[in-house]
Amino acid sequence: MRVLIAGAGIGGLTAALSLHAAGIDALVIDSAASLRPLGVGINLMPHAVRELTELGLGGELAATGIPTAEMVHFDRHGNRIWGFACGLSVGYRWPQYSIHRGELQMILLAAVRARLGPGAVRTGTAFAGFTSLPSGVVAGVRDRSSGALTALTADVLVGADGLYSGVRAQLHPDEPPPRWGGIMMWRGIAEAPPFLTGRTVAISGTNAALKFVAYPISRQAETRGRAMVNWVAEAMLPGAGSMDAADWNRSGRAEDVLPWFEAWKFGWLDVPSLITEAPRILEYPMVDRDPLPSWGQNRVTLLGDAAHPMYPVGANGGSQAIVDARVLAYSLASSGTPAEGLAAYEAARRETANAIVLACRDMPADRLLHTVSVRAPDGFGRIEDVLSATELAAFDEAYRTTTLPDVAALNSRPSLTP
Ligand SMILES: Cc1cc2nc3c(=O)[nH]c(=O)nc-3n(C[C@H](O)[C@H](O)[C@H](O)COP(=O)(O)OP(=O)(O)OC[C@H]3O[C@@H](n4cnc5c(N)ncnc54)[C@H](O)[C@@H]3O)c2cc1C
Repeated sequence: MRVLIAGAGIGGLTAALSLHAAGIDALVIDSAASLRPLGVGINLMPHAVRELTELGLGGELAATGIPTAEMVHFDRHGNRIWGFACGLSVGYRWPQYSIHRGELQMILLAAVRARLGPGAVRTGTAFAGFTSLPSGVVAGVRDRSSGALTALTADVLVGADGLYSGVRAQLHPDEPPPRWGGIMMWRGIAEAPPFLTGRTVAISGTNAALKFVAYPISRQAETRGRAMVNWVAEAMLPGAGSMDAADWNRSGRAEDVLPWFEAWKFGWLDVPSLITEAPRILEYPMVDRDPLPSWGQNRVTLLGDAAHPMYPVGANGGSQAIVDARVLAYSLASSGTPAEGLAAYEAARRETANAIVLACRDMPADRLLHTVSVRAPDGFGRIEDVLSATELAAFDEAYRTTTLPDVAALNSRPSLTP
């Protein structure tokens, strides 16, 4: 069986590695002229770290990322509201990592080239459309430099081509554009002194107004006694509903974001200086798409952001793409025909991923953060004076169910390596 994967992002590359591990041939194409370590930080949850570890990449992750110790919420004055420990310390057999998205992509790319061969990833090659045949799929692909259109034949086509997936557009031609709820994100990386545990994801403020997320992403910087701090500044803008096309590489300006966060100096974190110290700022609207009632047909399917783009509030976009990839390979390897394999994959993944899209959109934890900002706009001494024990317990529950699998269930689930 030969699988053609459109998109060499986190999901597409993990799919290639997973298929290879399952004894299935894969070719990955990407429209980018070359794959460079783009983006800023992302979090890999224990369920994704398990899959990459079983693909033999645990050592690289540990050498590159930061094993996240805790995720903690603060108000916009830096007062601690609530937090929870992450990864190994709550009993998962695998850590949670905060890592540079581009460095993770380069780890995956190197592994694909080493294991599947140097020609397994073809860049500058854009998916342009597919034709389904009873015996396979023919994909039209365009060479970005010459403009030439050629055909690639495969047994299965996987659209791992991100938010503006061309495979999804052909499968679901009547779908509206991505949906924007009005939150703009500015993102950057700045070197700074370590803060709190040195391995904390700190989330301050609320998405109802302003929010600032900061976490260290570099093991190398940590060994030098420094922190490479990934930050995301979020602001609810008026005019929700209309936006330019979302582009992960669009540059933003410090002067657009700094005025909102000028007073955010917490003692343990200096937000304005993180913004001004970032060599480059990126601007991206927080978008997703409505969940799909089906992903694919016969020999064609979707994976990762192409299947279920989600708000990053659950820190799960990359993690869910990785789990998709592993389940896809497992399903294809353990089914009689490609169509049966893809049906099994979709049955295992679609409802779960769709539920996370909706849970991230609902932002239950954010409602409580907003409640804190309304009840204690100038800060507080003890959170117990602001939120009841029941409200705090609801916060904890809301967060866990949005983002994390049950510890025992993940630890005891059989491996997805066929
Ligand atoms: C350049 C870039 C930077 C990003 N930076 C961040 C970040 O800083 N923080 C964060 O949380 N998330 C970031 N993301 C998104 C994040 O990687 C995804 O949400 C998540 O990892 C799921 O990955 P994915 O593989 O499904 O999609 P993506 O990572 O979006 O990968 C999709 C891939 O498909 C390729 N592609 C698109 N159209 C075609 C086509 N027609 N033919 C062939 N290939 C095509 C793209 O070039 C890309 O490599 C970024 C994505 C990209 C592409």
